[in-house]
Amino acid sequence: MARYTGAVCRLCRREGQKLFLKGERCYSDKCSIANRGYAPGQHGQGRKKLSEYGLQLRAKQTARRFYGVQENQFHHYFEVAERKQGITGDNLLRILESRLDNIVYRAGFANSRAEARQLVGHGHFEVNGSRVDIASYLLKAGDTVAVCEKSRGLDKMKSIVEANGARPTPEWMTVDHDAMTVKVENLPTREQIEAPVDEQLIVEFYSK
Ligand code: SF4
Repeated sequence: MARYTGAVCRLCRREGQKLFLKGERCYSDKCSIANRGYAPGQHGQGRKKLSEYGLQLRAKQTARRFYGVQENQFHHYFEVAERKQGITGDNLLRILESRLDNIVYRAGFANSRAEARQLVGHGHFEVNGSRVDIASYLLKAGDTVAVCEKSRGLDKMKSIVEANGARPTPEWMTVDHDAMTVKVENLPTREQIEAPVDEQLIVEFYSK
């Protein structure tokens, strides 16, 4: 399935909540959810109550859009989560959180997950000392991500880190903004994951 290239604010409006897909704009009064908090399209303002299936579908789409993952890959993550020991929904969120693009964004080295994907794809990051340009690369506890030495001096990187330096970082990682590094101390528990996602509904969606 091709990547969505339309207006990303429509995705938030479709899900009826902020998914923080645009960086700085999401925190300003220009946010479309604040100005037009109804679903996009001709019938957006006359939305009916959702069926059980509709709720499950929206939960899955919300998670997919929040993390910027395409359908096939998301389904694959669900299958992996199901095979792991523990609660499937928690496992799924932990896999999504351990993606390199998510860690780069959470650490404040990108304004959004989309930008993190682009920066990773352009080879600006290394994991444990080796360059990695795959945004879906899954990190483990103990891994360290760093901005590549040649990229640390770029004005773009400096301004991103400066703009996001004050953004709180999750407790399961240690970020050094001066050195532009982040260490994954542990993979997060469900309580440590801030995401507008009802994982139980996603499990129900795929269990039909
Ligand atoms: Fe979503 Fe950000 Fe657009 Fe607001 S500004 S609708 S949070 S992408």
